[in-house]
Amino acid sequence: MRRTRERLEVIEYRPGEDRLVYRNNDNEAEGRSHGDLLCGNCGEVVLSNWSKEEAQTHFVMHDQRVVIQCLACKAYNLLAAPSEKVEQNIVLNRA
Ligand SMILES: [Zn+2]
Repeated sequence: MRRTRERLEVIEYRPGEDRLVYRNNDNEAEGRSHGDLLCGNCGEVVLSNWSKEEAQTHFVMHDQRVVIQCLACKAYNLLAAPSEKVEQNIVLNRA
């Protein structure tokens, strides 16, 4: 069967704001797509057995971006955009 290959979007990872997931046997086994997700930078496979649409649906979080790092070039790729963009109220507490 022919496998589809989709390139992810490379983004700048924001520690503490974005959710980082790792490539492992569990999440590759969970995927049902006959396809691979490729690093948007170098084209290496970052996750097997997933389509972009499927990854978006499965990994989506309410207000965090879900990011996966390419093991080859270390680029961060967007796996799922937030389901809802939330306005953040930043409160600065000053003593
Ligand atoms: Zn890469």
